[in-house]
Amino acid sequence: MSLSGAANSSNPLTQARRVVVKVGSALLVESHSGQVNRTWLESLAADISDLRRQGREVLLVSSGAIALGRRSLGLPVGRLKLEESQAAAAVGQISLAHAWKEVLGRHELGVAQILLTLSDTEERRRYLNARSTLNTLLRLGSIPVINENDTVATAEIRYGDNDRLAARVAQMISADCLVLLSDVDGLYTADPTRDPSAIFIPEIRAITPEIEKMGTGSASDVGSGGMATKIAAAKIAVGAGCHMCVALGRELHPVRRIELGERCSWFYPASTPTAFRKQWIAGTLKPAGELIVDDGAARALRRGKSLLPAGVTAIVGEFERGDALLIRDSSGTELARGLSAYSSRDAERLRGRQSHEIEALLGFRGRDELIHRDDLVLSSQG
Ligand code: GLU
Repeated sequence: MSLSGAANSSNPLTQARRVVVKVGSALLVESHSGQVNRTWLESLAADISDLRRQGREVLLVSSGAIALGRRSLGLPVGRLKLEESQAAAAVGQISLAHAWKEVLGRHELGVAQILLTLSDTEERRRYLNARSTLNTLLRLGSIPVINENDTVATAEIRYGDNDRLAARVAQMISADCLVLLSDVDGLYTADPTRDPSAIFIPEIRAITPEIEKMGTGSASDVGSGGMATKIAAAKIAVGAGCHMCVALGRELHPVRRIELGERCSWFYPASTPTAFRKQWIAGTLKPAGELIVDDGAARALRRGKSLLPAGVTAIVGEFERGDALLIRDSSGTELARGLSAYSSRDAERLRGRQSHEIEALLGFRGRDELIHRDDLVLSSQG
């Protein structure tokens, strides 16, 4: 099947550089057979290949492990116990990853499987590791296929739905667009399957208490994300400067349809991911430490460059990788704030040294920059 037509230039998807597409179980797994819905998945793979050809980076958050695994294990229909869903996920995740590898492989796209738990997205060190793995995969041209690590996540530390997980991923990698392919075409004032007077909302510019109240849940029986989790996801996404849409995914070529302007609900952020990130760095009330830099490094920073270890003359305080630091020039004036790529112990060993010496000094090959320019904000005095 082919869909043609010009994509609308004001559509956030056609403007995006980095896109996260979340695919729900109800779409990916046929309810009657418990198998992957191949024809549909192939059409989605073709859409993803199109996005890539347009120069966009794509990450997938794919549900379906539990739905695929439960049948092979002969588990009953209806709600599973936690340990049963974990067993089902262990079995189903293999089929899920295979299906993606196969359909994307036909377009010569490489796939990488990432299984995340809640703490991977909440704890700073794990968050930074997950972020750098995802960024590396994107740089190397792979398509990360992400799911919750259901087999180890216990009830208390579980997302349980991939809507919020997808939003966290979008936030983590500063995506500018998150697409939730769902079994409803968007947000309504009430549940449209129960209330015929429900009104469709195409654009949401602020998540007000009224909007939150609309999260009454969809009629899906395969996935676990109702409208409430989609609104929770939207709060995370727009809070990170990322556009988000809830769209009906059931038809073939679901992403292409959104590009062509098919009805869906768009949640708009007030700013861009970079601006949000930089605002957050600039607004850190209590930096964990300070770096004093020489005049050459101060000039480089003012020109928008990264901070290299060679330009650092002194380090104040104890901090970990990812902590916010204040950068001062030799006279003590605040120049910038940024997130450190090294702990204070490692930074102390690197101080004043060249980046090519990092591996020999630390025993591992870390980043060339002590603070990368993407993680740096100049202070107004700077
Ligand atoms: N992680 C679950 C799975 O792969 C799905 C969660 C959800 O339905 O959002 O089966």
